Amino acid sequence: MLLDLKRLFENEEESVSFQYELDLSDLEISGVFPFVSPVRIQGIVQNTAGTVFMTVQADFDFSIPCDRCAQDMQLQYHFSFSHPLLLDAKEEEQDTYIPVQDGKLDLDELCRADILLALPAKYLCREDCRGLCSVCGTDLNHGSCQCDQHQTDPRLEVLKQLID
Ligand SMILES: [Zn+2]
Ligand SMILES: [Zn+2]
Repeated sequence: MLLDLKRLFENEEESVSFQYELDLSDLEISGVFPFVSPVRIQGIVQNTAGTVFMTVQADFDFSIPCDRCAQDMQLQYHFSFSHPLLLDAKEEEQDTYIPVQDGKLDLDELCRADILLALPAKYLCREDCRGLCSVCGTDLNHGSCQCDQHQTDPRLEVLKQLID
């Protein structure tokens, strides 16, 4: 969605609100496509005494396997973002302000980047998920196996050889 903010930048006390659905189903994370339904976006851009500020809310369902045990998780996220905007911002101003070139703002691009930054780096079904046995694949949250995990640690193998 492209927001036209020309009028807003020219008129103090003006605001523009928006609400739409953003499709991120093509976004791949850890080998899967976790955005199972469109992201519901709503927000407002306000010009207050010449300072332009944008606030956005993003709500979405997210489906991704646990990093340790691979069990599918259904998650719901709710993120809020806010940014100061600057019309035709110079390069050195773009660290502080979101640049709005020719009065047009690409909301899709901005929201996509915000959401990617806000997502966690790790997905665990629970903090202490025990994961899968690296030898036989048993889900160690639900049972144990007979594998001797120590034999598979290459550092211990080297030690053992040294002792022998
Ligand atoms: Zn897990
Ligand atoms: Zn095992």
